Amino acid sequence: MKQVRGPYMCYSVEKDFLTAHLIEQRTKLMEDVNNHEHDIALDIRKLHNIDGLALRFLVNTEELLDQKGHHIVLVGGEPDIVTKLLTAHNFKHFATMADFELEFHEINPGLLKSILKLAQGGVGFKMLQLECPLCKFNEVTGFVIDESCYQVQWTPREIIPVWFPAKPDAENIDYSAYRVAICPECFFASTRPDYFSIHFPEGDIKTILKPEQITNLAINGSARKALANEVRESSRASFFQPPRDRQSAYLSWKLHELCQKQLSTDRHFIDAFEIVLANFMMCKYATTERLVGDHLHTALAWLNNLMQNQTHYSTNRLIQAHTYYISVLLALDKLGEAQRGLADFQNQYRDVPEADFWLGRVEALVNDALEDLEKAQK
Ligand SMILES: [Zn+2]
Repeated sequence: MKQVRGPYMCYSVEKDFLTAHLIEQRTKLMEDVNNHEHDIALDIRKLHNIDGLALRFLVNTEELLDQKGHHIVLVGGEPDIVTKLLTAHNFKHFATMADFELEFHEINPGLLKSILKLAQGGVGFKMLQLECPLCKFNEVTGFVIDESCYQVQWTPREIIPVWFPAKPDAENIDYSAYRVAICPECFFASTRPDYFSIHFPEGDIKTILKPEQITNLAINGSARKALANEVRESSRASFFQPPRDRQSAYLSWKLHELCQKQLSTDRHFIDAFEIVLANFMMCKYATTERLVGDHLHTALAWLNNLMQNQTHYSTNRLIQAHTYYISVLLALDKLGEAQRGLADFQNQYRDVPEADFWLGRVEALVNDALEDLEKAQK
């Protein structure tokens, strides 16, 4: 059993992984190993038996992948099996599926902690010096917030919840305008500081991008440049420096969207969630109603894509995606579809405590829409 999960090709390993299975599946497995441009994740939660030859095969495969800048990671597993594997090779191991999911969508929490400690700036809002992984320009500015100083809240006008200071001395900024870091030379853009190399006096943290991803991005530089040049004065290095105005915030998300599409040549690996997020942010900073409409429709199309490929996304992202899906349907006056979406959301996530914040929001939005409809009919 294999499926795409985030940037990984994920295999569920059965109860036994023995020489016999290896002989049976080796050719197919090697085809995958030789052909793909991503890491491999082995879900070993069910695995009970692995023999010496199968173990050797995994270690050899990892060494082969390592030469191309890729890796095998392990997810779950019983302690004795995990020990056996980790003794054979220093594989990266995630104790639970949740830990694994978190890693492929968000910056690693441990890394974020050290980044916040080392970064410069005021209370809560910090600046980073980044190096572009494509053109090596090393004065890219990145911005991060310490989430413990802020709190997300719903606002009437926005589909995405907004960060507000939760401590009196936390800097009061519109973080959405700063979330995307952009190289002013080649216009590589990302919400992930770890996609860049990060410079600290204590040493550098290298980009987590894979060599193929860097190549894919590098060969498509002209499309980014053309996009940036549509916006006046965008070539100025200072364009993306604070304070970012509406125009630079809009362009930052537009470039983020484009870079997400340029990361992989395989459409299946495009992270629809990031494209949706970028389009909602472009709605926020767009200057005309027509643009807002365009971005809402684009967001809806990618949400449909996401809903059809739910296995690619973490639970946390799916909860958010359901919320955005219903919200955008309401924004586009599709109340019937929004109600069906809400029923589906409730069925799937009613018992998931993390979903409360999100479910509550869309339940209120659908109720408001129903009340408005009733009033209009009277
Ligand atoms: Zn660059």
